[in-house]
Formats: sequence, structure tokens, C-alpha cells
Amino acid sequence: MSKNLTKRAEDYSKWYNELVVKADLAENSGVRGCMVIKPYGYAIWEKMQRELDRMFKETGHSNAYFPLFVPKSMFEAEEKNAEGFAKECAIVTHYRLKTDDNNKGKLIVDPNAKLEEELIVRPTSEAIIWSTYKNWVQSYRDLPLLINQWANVVRWEMRTRLFLRTAEFLWQEGHTAHATRVEALEETEKMMNVYADFVQNFMAIPVIKGVKSANERFAGAEETYCIEALMQDGKALQAGTSHFLGQNFAKAFDVKFANKEGKQEHVWGTSWGVSTRLMGALVMTHSDDNGLVLPPNLAPIQVVVVPIFRNETQLEEISNAINPLLDSLKATGISVKFDTRDTLSPGFKFNEYELKGVPVRIAIGPKDLENGTLEIARRDNLTKEVVAQEAAFEYIQSLLLTIQNDLFARALEYRNNHITKVENFEEFKDVLETKTGFVSAHWDGTPETEEKIKELTKATIRCIPLDREEEQGICVFSGKPSAGRVLFAKAY
Ligand code: AMP
Repeated sequence: MSKNLTKRAEDYSKWYNELVVKADLAENSGVRGCMVIKPYGYAIWEKMQRELDRMFKETGHSNAYFPLFVPKSMFEAEEKNAEGFAKECAIVTHYRLKTDDNNKGKLIVDPNAKLEEELIVRPTSEAIIWSTYKNWVQSYRDLPLLINQWANVVRWEMRTRLFLRTAEFLWQEGHTAHATRVEALEETEKMMNVYADFVQNFMAIPVIKGVKSANERFAGAEETYCIEALMQDGKALQAGTSHFLGQNFAKAFDVKFANKEGKQEHVWGTSWGVSTRLMGALVMTHSDDNGLVLPPNLAPIQVVVVPIFRNETQLEEISNAINPLLDSLKATGISVKFDTRDTLSPGFKFNEYELKGVPVRIAIGPKDLENGTLEIARRDNLTKEVVAQEAAFEYIQSLLLTIQNDLFARALEYRNNHITKVENFEEFKDVLETKTGFVSAHWDGTPETEEKIKELTKATIRCIPLDREEEQGICVFSGKPSAGRVLFAKAY
């Protein structure tokens, strides 16, 4: 099987698009900006979902489901949120088609089936959810409400990329309501930490935790916490967001509770989400010119066995030798595939599993039967080792852990090497053009300066890192005082 992948150094973005399609993750569809997620890609997404869902439940959240459509008047209620999303809304105006009398076989919108009130296809669900919370919250005993939903949303994006930015995407959105400001803030930070934990430990992608500048903040939020990752081409990617909504939505939707003293108060809110964009982050953090590289935690197939045989008898001998090992691996929850297809050569299969990022490949042929060995290859660094069959079980178990850790370590080293401190605007521009990555620079704190810098360099403030040092300095652009460094980057 020939991969014919464009090399990353030649054209990173072409490499990405080709890889997503060739590795069977997803493809473009007949609908503008919307993708088809293929079974292999969906299996990875399901693994992400399962782990995140476990983490949400462990932190006290329950799943529920709310409607896809939001009546326009409801959508408008929280003004800032509505204004922020207005430019990317899909709107339903009619509910029926009819046959076109002048053009047989065609359908037209039935003008008699106009909706009294337009429906917005949710770009995010705060409006519909807070209009429901009004009925669910009366007293402090009803709080906190800790709800998550797995859903699709639609944002009419102009420039779309498979997984990274699509017009329809899959995500989860958490929506919580609390009695106090402090509790809501704690929840916002807690869920950012859950995301960071998941993305780092499960996906092997290092992230920086921070808060967004006002320009990049979620419309309707008082504060947006985020995790930011760095892709192999030096561009940043927002991997997840957690918003402190203050009382904005409670006021817009009149969600009040009687506190312990019997006094009416507005509740405090949060919302948080990660999307199928994480699939793009996965590809762009670990993969190489040979194809996908998957961390073992996310690989639909963790270990593949490619038998090398000339006839049925040889295959049978190989099966007898390998099956006990495969059974014990399966019993520990490791997903294994034994590829016995006799219509494809071992070389073809090697290529295919390399392209699909299977972390561990075992090859076994007549020589290995004689010697009691196996050849075990790592996808991440393309090394191979001959291992005694009786040692293979423990070897593979520990190898999967090693690969997971090594992928994180490698990505972390790359990321850390791509955070550059600069002291003036010349250096700032130079780093963005030559070295790329995050630029750590003093900023005067104004949206105007951020806008100007964006205009001139395309870089935006990715976040104000939570762990930044308080350090008096001067803004690289305006020369005005600054209370600390922020991270700029060109971003997806
Ligand atoms: P937001 O509601 O804007 O805070 O976004 C929630 C999550 O969805 C974030 O992790 C975003 O990075 C991600 N996201 C936003 N827009 C898109 C899109 N068009 N396609 C895929 N993911 C997106």
C-alpha cells in the first residue's frame, strides 16, 4: 500500500488534510463545511468521550439533552451572547416544502409554511438551558445544578478545516448553576483542570492553562479559562474552554433562588466545552510523515499482529503460537488485532498500520516459530526489537505505557522549546516568522494593542498563563507599563 503522503516540511496543511482522509478519520461531505467522521475516526472520538464522560461523572455531573433549536426571542435574551454568535447562526424560517408546479420533480419552500418565530440552530446552548433552569431552581436546595450534554452544534464558519473548524461539530457542553460566585468560579477552574488532565494524561498533549483576554473571551462570559496547545508547525490551538458566566444568564433568564435567609438572589453560572477539534490536535501533535501516531490510550487497535506465512499450515502454526499471548493481552483490556488476511502482503499491512497509527506491531514468521521469538515494532519511533515469546506479555504491557509517556515527553520538549521570551517588537516579529510557537511578551492590557498586533502579525493573545510571574515590564508594542507576560501565537 503506497501512502504518498505529502511531507510535513513541504506543506504542513496539505499533509494534515491528506492524512485525515488517508488514515480513514474523516472526509469532506456534500454539505459545505460539514464532515463525515469515518468509523476509524469515530472510534477514537468514542474513546475520548468515554474517558471525559467518566471524569465528568466523577466530579458530580449528570448528562441531559436539550433541543437543537432555539426560538429567536430566547436566543436574544442574553444580549452579549446573542451578538457574539449572530454572525455565524443558521436560521430555520419554514417547516415545509412543496412540489414546484412549474418545474416537475423539484421542491420549493412552501410560502404558507413560514414559522411565526424563526428558530436558531444552536451554536451553543446557554439560552435554551438557562430558560429551562428558570423552572428548575427555586431554592438554595436546588443548587448546584451540574449538567452536561453531548451534542452537535452549528456555527457558520467561513473557513473550515476537517476537525479543527467545521460548521457542524460534535462536542460536550457543561452548564452549571451555583448559589455563590466563589462556588461558580471554583467550578470553572475545576473543569479547566479536568480538561488539562484529560488532554495531557490521556491524549499525551501538553497544554498551558490560562485566561483569555477580553477580545478572545466567550460572548456573555465574565472570564474564559482555557487550555492552549502547540501544534508541530508552531501554531497554537485552543483545546478547551471553561467560562465563568457570572450572573449574566441568570439575569437574562430570570433564574433566582431563595437563599437560606429566604431572600431572592440570582444564581451564578458556568459553561465549558471541548469538541471534535481535539481530533485535529491529536493528529497535529503526534503524527509524522509516515502517517498517524496514536497514543495507546486512544488507539482503537493497540497491538496488531502481522503473520508472515506462505500457506495454511504455516498460518495455523503461527496462530497456535500467538493466540495464548493475544488472549492474555485481551484479558487485561488491551485491544488486539490478528490480521490473517491472505490476499495482502505483510509489507502492505505494515504500511497500512503505520498509516493508521497502531502503537505496537508484532510480526511473526517461520523463523520466529523456530526461535521462539517475535519482532515487536513501535509506531512512535519506528524502532523494532526481537523479543522472546514468553517475555512478550509483560514487554508489551510496559511498552504501551512507555509509548504513552514518551509521546507526552516529546511533545512537551517541543512545546517548551517553542516558548520564546521577547523584549521588543522586532524580536516579536522575528520569532513569529522564523522560530514560530508561543511568544512570551509584555502587553499593556488594552484590546487596542492586541488588535494592532493582530493586524500586523496575525498573532493573537492565546492566554494569560495562570502560573505567570508577576513581573513589571513595558509593552512590546506600545511601550506602556505591563504587569506580566502573556502568550501570543498564530493560531488555528
Ligand atoms: P466555545 O463555546 O467557543 O468556548 O468553544 C468550545 C470548544 O469548541 C472549544 O474547545 C473550541 O476550541 C471548540 N470549537 C469552537 N468552534 C469550533 C469549530 N468551528 N469546530 C470545532 N471546534 C470548535
